Amino acid sequence: MNESIGALLELSHEIGRPERRLAILGEGNTSVKLSASQFAVKASGSRLASLAEADVTICESEKLIALLDRKTISDEAVDQALLDSRSKGIGKKPSVEAMFHAWLFTIEGVNFVGHCHPVTVNQVLCSPRARDFAERRLFPDEVVCCGPSSVFVPYADPGLVLAREIRERTIDYIKTNGFAPRLIVLQNHGIIAIGASSNSVLACLLMAEKAGEIFVGAASLGGPNFLPAKHVERIFVRPDEAYRQKQLKI
Ligand SMILES: [Zn+2]
Repeated sequence: MNESIGALLELSHEIGRPERRLAILGEGNTSVKLSASQFAVKASGSRLASLAEADVTICESEKLIALLDRKTISDEAVDQALLDSRSKGIGKKPSVEAMFHAWLFTIEGVNFVGHCHPVTVNQVLCSPRARDFAERRLFPDEVVCCGPSSVFVPYADPGLVLAREIRERTIDYIKTNGFAPRLIVLQNHGIIAIGASSNSVLACLLMAEKAGEIFVGAASLGGPNFLPAKHVERIFVRPDEAYRQKQLKI
């Protein structure tokens, strides 16, 4: 098996472990960049927990990215375009969320993408505090694994509309901050982690879910008290934290 696809299956199984409560049934999807023009993504309807090589489809990135600029397109045409994006026409239909995966691989240094619908994070994302969860930070390890802030994407119809919103908001984030995000937060939906390695993507998703749990607990006690911006910035640039990130391969 291709090494990248092996790593993708391993990441998918880790995200799909039932006790982690990040995704059940066919929820969530994962992908890996194979080259500048191709990536492999979970097929529609397959389960992360038991993802097999046959449930992974290799797609031509350009064919999916081109859809984002189409003015109007029917659901049927999107379905057909997903099938047409398969390399050599082989494999199952890619997830409808393959469109945002394709675009995220255009960001420098992004080799893996993991998307899920975690129970605790979604408690916050389905509440009036969703934007706070994206833009503020609660504790140092959240800064280390999830970045100093996340991209916030207001609720959008999954598929093409959501992929366009993710592109627009992520470009804004990079313009404002001068670096790429690690975490993208989708209101009333879930989270997307992007990174150079499968380890960094898994660490980001697990830490986001922990942050969600802490957020809910702190909110029940009248909080949360967020980390002040100067401390978030300090953690983000500390050399010892960079060293730790390197050791943990995140
Ligand atoms: Zn989703």
